[in-house]
Amino acid sequence: MSGIAPEVERILAPNPGPLTGPGTNTWLFGRGEVLVIDPGPLDQQHLDAVARAARLRGGAGMVVCTHHHPDHREGADRLAEMLGAPLAIYHRRAERSGELALEDGDRLLAGESWLEVVHTPGHSQDHLCLFAPREHILFSGDHILSGTTSVIWPPEGDMAAYLDSLARVRDLDAEWLLPGHGEPISEPRKAVDALIAHRLEREGQVLEALGPDPVAPSQLVGGLYHGYPPEVLEYAAQTLLAHCIKLANEGRIERVPGEGEARFRKP
Ligand SMILES: [Zn+2]
Repeated sequence: MSGIAPEVERILAPNPGPLTGPGTNTWLFGRGEVLVIDPGPLDQQHLDAVARAARLRGGAGMVVCTHHHPDHREGADRLAEMLGAPLAIYHRRAERSGELALEDGDRLLAGESWLEVVHTPGHSQDHLCLFAPREHILFSGDHILSGTTSVIWPPEGDMAAYLDSLARVRDLDAEWLLPGHGEPISEPRKAVDALIAHRLEREGQVLEALGPDPVAPSQLVGGLYHGYPPEVLEYAAQTLLAHCIKLANEGRIERVPGEGEARFRKP
């Protein structure tokens, strides 16, 4: 992509929506043989475009998924087959023979460049970011998005882990964040600081909204997400639930025993 690095190319998948923004970004990275990051949905036209672009650059050494959600992973098997390249995913999700099981700290060769695997649980347990130290680029998947915030949906989504993972990528020497959805982000540290501040602000609002009476996170959405489009409110309720679970684990609020939707109160 112009302005970022000659190693980088983006192909936008045709799956726009409230969670995917303009669609999933499929990234090619490398000089010579490339890595394909996040093939996106099972859309043959999109996969054809990705395969064509990869072949033009010298073929693909590997297809990598940042996490298993279908908007990133669904087209991966087909694309790997089309390119004759192995599929690489977080080791606890690698199930089939021929899949490469990735772990934190692994290095992936991309022609003359390479990427480092950074395990960043939070949005999902298996979430990986991919860091190119030489090019100062971080492929951030859904850990850090542009134009929207990541949904943290319990039980798989974990707010405490998410904040830890944000702190971890904050200290990488990156000049660009290339997200799973939306436009490239310059000044990564500023963006990560803003995200951490935003989450802590929400946490403070949740604390403030709770009193001695049991309240469900969905009852807090109207007040805390005033003015947001209605289609995101269900996801917002899940992220508020993730905040409540974190606060309860820290002993700052308590979960009220009972059936149905989880309810919380101040002790
Ligand atoms: Zn996504």
